[in-house]
Amino acid sequence: MSDRQSQTEVILIGAGIMSATLGTLLKELVPDWKITVFEKLASAGEESSNEWNNAGTGHAALCELNYTVEKPDGTVDISKAVSINEQFQVSRQFWSYLVNGSLIRNPQEFIMPLPHMSMVQGEKNVSFLKKRFEALSGNPLFQGMEYSDDPGKLKEWIPLIMQGRNLNEPIAATKIDSGTDVNFGALTRILFDHLSQQGVGINYKHSVDNMRRTADGSWELKVRNLNGGSVERHTAQFVFIGGGGGSLHLLQKSGIPEGKGIGGFPVSGLFMVCTNPEIVQQHHAKVYGKAKVGAPPMSVPHLDTRFIDNKKSLLFGPFAGFSPKFLKTGSMFDLIGTVKPGNVMTMLAAGAKNVPLTKYLIEQVMLSKEKRMEELREFIPNARSEDWDLVVAGQRVQVIKDTAAGGKGTLQFGTEVVSAADGSIAALLGASPGASTAVSVMLEVLKKCFPQQMPAWEPKLKEMIPSYGVSLAKNPKLNEEIHAATAQALGLSRELQPV
Ligand SMILES: Cc1cc2nc3c(=O)[nH]c(=O)nc-3n(C[C@H](O)[C@H](O)[C@H](O)COP(=O)(O)OP(=O)(O)OC[C@H]3O[C@@H](n4cnc5c(N)ncnc54)[C@H](O)[C@@H]3O)c2cc1C
Repeated sequence: MSDRQSQTEVILIGAGIMSATLGTLLKELVPDWKITVFEKLASAGEESSNEWNNAGTGHAALCELNYTVEKPDGTVDISKAVSINEQFQVSRQFWSYLVNGSLIRNPQEFIMPLPHMSMVQGEKNVSFLKKRFEALSGNPLFQGMEYSDDPGKLKEWIPLIMQGRNLNEPIAATKIDSGTDVNFGALTRILFDHLSQQGVGINYKHSVDNMRRTADGSWELKVRNLNGGSVERHTAQFVFIGGGGGSLHLLQKSGIPEGKGIGGFPVSGLFMVCTNPEIVQQHHAKVYGKAKVGAPPMSVPHLDTRFIDNKKSLLFGPFAGFSPKFLKTGSMFDLIGTVKPGNVMTMLAAGAKNVPLTKYLIEQVMLSKEKRMEELREFIPNARSEDWDLVVAGQRVQVIKDTAAGGKGTLQFGTEVVSAADGSIAALLGASPGASTAVSVMLEVLKKCFPQQMPAWEPKLKEMIPSYGVSLAKNPKLNEEIHAATAQALGLSRELQPV
């Protein structure tokens, strides 16, 4: 028997960065709508959005080599990089609006300026990096990027990486100072604090176990109060499933036809964290390398300066791995529990297609610390085991579905908004590029689910995101103005003093 019932306009499931962003957007657009949040853990931002569970890269395709692909004719396709950069500019604008409106007081609690670099070794890789640099530097979004294959210059940029390095192969790097380190955990907590002050009902330790559509087209959620175990019923006209790795399971519970035929493939992660403050001080950048052959794109190795708990840290990874859990705090039965009659053929096809990937991930799980140190030494040749510890990162659940291009059971590496035809429910699946693009992804949810309201919301959307509906890549002057304004608002234009 339920001992609590409520009716509300919007229910957000999960207190990660996606629900935080959607809730904040909605509160600005329609302040009087009643919003309720259910989160099964004890506080906000504890799963993938937590600062220790992700890499904190403000993904703007400044350094991630997997977003620029070399075509068979040898030219480099930058279209994906441009699109990801545009999405990050949307996030920067929304965060700046929140800072300018004093909804966020100190942006340095969640975002810091940090050079983004790509580094490669070997003739073929150096030639690719140079072509990539040339293709990007013609685009306004990538202004300020520098390239060097001079070991002397690289010693200035990345002394820790160059120290003790064997230079019998060519080496090159690009560097752009407008990169960022983002503490998505801190941002999630800031946004939920703000939502709570705005009267949003945030219910921690409440797990959404099931849902059904009611006769009037609303959604009734069965929610378990984990403080005591009582079962509650809550109804809303619109539900956002922002459960991270838990979203697929809930989407299946909704029974909407749009969710049929979709499966999930979990990829776990590990970082190495430096425990020696002297080493930490010798590095100041996010340096991305090239993924190993057979590795999934999200496990491109990178050596990252991070700003966590008001301290400068140094992390290396992520090492990918396989675990059947869909959330870090999930269950070993998560994967098998999402295999349903509607997606079993898709899952089987994906299983058959991705044997090499599964093998790679299992091998990664089995790596000893010394083997991981060998991978780290490709970045820091003099790295000592005693200076590094392992930390377990978050889980990512990649979408598996049938596509025209990839055929049955294709593994997707992006994010995907799945919504009901009537817009009454939407779920976010997938995790790349992830939190950095949360604002664009949540705008997509609004477009899909509130098409009637969008024209009336447009002026406010333009106030919050001045480039709304406009391509910055095609408007260099607007891009320059917006970039300068957001850098100023977010405190990114000043020289960073090493902590
Ligand atoms: C190793 C790794 C590195 C990454 N690096 C980056 C990066 O550098 N830059 C970047 O932009 N992105 C990165 N990402 C991706 C990014 O972290 C995610 O895209 C983002 O945090 C997802 O946010 P979310 O709100 O969807 O999910 P989450 O933060 O996981 O939140 C979902 C919440 O829903 C709750 N929940 C689940 N099921 C239920 C239920 N039934 N009832 C109630 N609550 C429920 C969970 O407890 C959780 O709190 C990385 C991810 C990983 C794993």
